[in-house]
Amino acid sequence: VIVRIAKNSGFCPGVKRAIRIALDAVPNHHNLVTLGPIIHNQQMVDRLAKSGIGTVDSVDDVESGQTVIIRSHGVTQDTYNRLREKGVMVVDATCPYVAKTHQYARELQSLGYRVLILGDAEHPEVIGMMSYVNGDAIVTNDPESLEIRNWHRIGIISQTTQPIEKLQSLVNKVIPLCGDLRVMNTICSATNIRQASTLQLAQESDLMIVVGGRNSSNTKMLARISEKWAETHQIEAAEEIVIDWFENKQKVGITAGASTPDWVILEVYNRIIEEYVGRDSKADNVEDIPGYKEE
Ligand code: SF4
Repeated sequence: VIVRIAKNSGFCPGVKRAIRIALDAVPNHHNLVTLGPIIHNQQMVDRLAKSGIGTVDSVDDVESGQTVIIRSHGVTQDTYNRLREKGVMVVDATCPYVAKTHQYARELQSLGYRVLILGDAEHPEVIGMMSYVNGDAIVTNDPESLEIRNWHRIGIISQTTQPIEKLQSLVNKVIPLCGDLRVMNTICSATNIRQASTLQLAQESDLMIVVGGRNSSNTKMLARISEKWAETHQIEAAEEIVIDWFENKQKVGITAGASTPDWVILEVYNRIIEEYVGRDSKADNVEDIPGYKEE
């Protein structure tokens, strides 16, 4: 039996980086807190708590003497200012791709472009971008229903997780209506790369185990992609594995959604290995599982 993991599984590079920055800060700072949960995964939040990293919900809850970790989604300019006023230390783990959206928003506006943001107005990333143009931008997540008025110069940026097709349809809609259009493609490829890796592994496997929260939409998407090619089971934890699934299966693939911590993936892999291959082949890290690669 061959057991492999899809390249690019689990947390995206921005979240992995934020967790690493948070953990690296532990020896040098007392009283560390993240502003909001570092990722929407309670197990991960609990793990950080065990390492001494707490969570606060808002700047109002930050106390003097604390060091505040900014998570990968980034924050508004106002949040930075208020933290500065409070005199607390800040460890900034904003994903560099998110930071780019802030920079482009500001640049486009200062060059005289009307900023048009593709994204969900309520999403922290979009709220962050808005703060860099003083709230003066148009936000849409539905290019079809966008009403275009007399705009001459438009600068488009996108929330990093939007589908490229939506950005294309927004550009199609705007291009006949303005003379000067700039498009900054700020879509992050982490989601696409994860889906492509799952597709590739599913095509080479006869059984796929998809690990991730039942409510996680990106995990469900991975399962949908996978089930077209191989028998697929979505689980949240190693205990849910059913032995019968493996009957007559030679090539087993594992993949995981973007909010699935490494140790959950590792437990799934090691449980399968223990049952089918032998204890000696167990892995200590996700990076050691055959097939793993972060691009
Ligand atoms: S921009 Fe991409 S890598 Fe960064 S946090 Fe978002 S999904 Fe992850």
